[in-house]
Amino acid sequence: MKRLAGKTALVTGSSRGIGRATALRLAREGATVAVHYADNADAAKATLAAIEEEGGRAFLVRAELGVPGDVDTLFQGLTAGLREATGKEELNILVNNAGVMGGVKPEDLTPEIFDRLIAVNAKAPLFLTQRVLSIMPDGGRIINIGTGLLRYANPDEVAYSMSKGALDQISLHFARLLGPRNITVNTVSPGITNNGSPIFDVPEAREFMANMNAFKRIAEPEDVGDVVAFLASDDARWITGTFVDASGGTLLGG
Ligand code: NAP
Repeated sequence: MKRLAGKTALVTGSSRGIGRATALRLAREGATVAVHYADNADAAKATLAAIEEEGGRAFLVRAELGVPGDVDTLFQGLTAGLREATGKEELNILVNNAGVMGGVKPEDLTPEIFDRLIAVNAKAPLFLTQRVLSIMPDGGRIINIGTGLLRYANPDEVAYSMSKGALDQISLHFARLLGPRNITVNTVSPGITNNGSPIFDVPEAREFMANMNAFKRIAEPEDVGDVVAFLASDDARWITGTFVDASGGTLLGG
């Protein structure tokens, strides 16, 4: 019996990277997965095709986050897709994964850059979480994708990390709110993870990045997606409101 048979999941930003690996893993466990994306329809279709090739079930939802009406658009696409795929509007697992990076020196930060990071990485997940609670049965799962930068300093990512810090607060406070419904809410925090960006093809950069974690290899998206799948399963029912370090020990230092 697959661990997530009969369940439904929304993975925001699952056209690529960690989101794609998570969507694939949840589908492999039996969940019907809403593959969400913003612009990259080809990549989203590739995720969908990969799931279907393995015999899994999924559908696409397009919605740009961080713009007015974002959560409305996503929710409408989600509920329409759920109805078509399963005959009902019920979501068991929400993975708030879609995010934008900063990479801006502290002296170059602007209020506009800050507002965008907050809008995509914190505000959209908060109101999406609020919205999907109306269709989430007891025993649901909410998993927020944070970052090791919540515990590891990088001045060029101060605004990004602030936005992820705000996201992490959703886990703490909603975990308490939703405990009586047996819904768990947690933050999974990756370290540097190969998302197909060109930097991962540069040998010197690869060596540097690999040396940041305890295992001395580049993290692949599946390393994080598998942790998310565990938290989504019944085996993780007693874990809530917590920060799960999925950085391969980057935070250990050395
Ligand atoms: P990625 O490969 O850059 O992909 C980003 C995904 O999010 C894509 O599916 C993209 O959709 C979607 N997305 C981006 N901006 C969006 C917006 N405004 N509205 C809707 N969707 C949007 O991502 P990743 O590197 O795997 O990272 C996934 C998550 O992990 C992010 O929250 C990131 O902050 C976090 N994280 C990543 C790393 C890392 O090293 N990779 C480390 C720590 C934390 P399109 O394809 O349509 O653009």
